[in-house]
Amino acid sequence: MLKFMDNYPMKNLTTLKIGGPAKKFVKVTNPNELIEAINYAKQNNLEYLVIGGGSNLLVSDKGVDKLIIKNEILGIEHQGQNIKVKSGTVLQDLVHYSISHGLLGIQKMTGIPGTVGGAVYGNAGAYGQTISDNIISVVVLSDRRESKDLITLNKDDCNFNYRDSGFKKNKYTILEVRFSLNTNNPTTLDQEAKDVLSKRLIKYPPGIKCPGSFFKNIVAETLPKEILEKIPSEKITYGKISAGYLLESVGANGQVLDGIEIAGYHANLFINKGGGSAQTFYTLAKKYSQKVKEKFGITLEPEVQLINLPPIS
Ligand SMILES: Cc1cc2nc3c(=O)[nH]c(=O)nc-3n(C[C@H](O)[C@H](O)[C@H](O)COP(=O)(O)OP(=O)(O)OC[C@H]3O[C@@H](n4cnc5c(N)ncnc54)[C@H](O)[C@@H]3O)c2cc1C
Repeated sequence: MLKFMDNYPMKNLTTLKIGGPAKKFVKVTNPNELIEAINYAKQNNLEYLVIGGGSNLLVSDKGVDKLIIKNEILGIEHQGQNIKVKSGTVLQDLVHYSISHGLLGIQKMTGIPGTVGGAVYGNAGAYGQTISDNIISVVVLSDRRESKDLITLNKDDCNFNYRDSGFKKNKYTILEVRFSLNTNNPTTLDQEAKDVLSKRLIKYPPGIKCPGSFFKNIVAETLPKEILEKIPSEKITYGKISAGYLLESVGANGQVLDGIEIAGYHANLFINKGGGSAQTFYTLAKKYSQKVKEKFGITLEPEVQLINLPPIS
């Protein structure tokens, strides 16, 4: 029996610990519950939004006039080099699973919070690995027809790009993700993950209230030559210009406004130091992205999903 809650504070569902009330909130632990929750939304003329770990969300202080469905549909299994994982599984559990079974391709995503579904939606990644690298197919629930079909999409149908996927445009709910991984020694994989984690802990100390990097880095080859010439080559890694560098160049690092601080060591990291609001967060992000636009002619695009807030760029 699903437990629908009224006016549930979204700040309890986000790593940023910010966000006003959701009109309705429910957790689902299997696909039938998910369909039941979606049907409930339809019957009550409510829009719905499926979320995972809330680690990539900036939710308005006014809240959201929707049914928020928290995906807790869990499970991992593998056969040989193929892994099937349910979308509500915590990404870190998948990382541990792949390492312990000697499967290579996900280990560098250690420490990224959230669920597998959220990672696929945003094509999350770190240290040169992205979740889509080894995906073969994704099983989704289509809400286009009355019957709510399950559809298997091949990787090419998912339109993956840098921190982007077709799921940002269609109305599919990601249910299961299938990977084909290479093999390696678990000890080697574990060591690689530990190396990554020790670097990550410096940027993201435990308990930090943030949604990860706020803006996407810029794919260098998308920029005209005259803009690219303004960027020092050492600021381009894996073909991307760091948004942190651009923000730092306009003085964003270390800025503080009403409980929101832009990290002194990384200007693309906006932290809720306590009592910060979505509005303040938004104001700071808009201010410094405009400065970047003025100085470099580059439009920064949020990586974080804005919920019930106007576009920033
Ligand atoms: C400390 C910290 C460090 C981070 N480091 C990184 C990093 O190194 N690299 C990186 O890429 N990201 C990073 N992030 C951002 C974030 O962790 C990732 O984007 C993560 O993959 C989001 O997953 P989630 O389950 O929390 O998604 P949520 O925040 O819950 O949702 C994000 C979006 O995905 C959609 N969504 C979620 N589940 C589903 C589903 N099953 N079907 C359809 N849509 C769905 C939601 O509707 C929403 O639009 C970091 C965040 C934090 C807080």
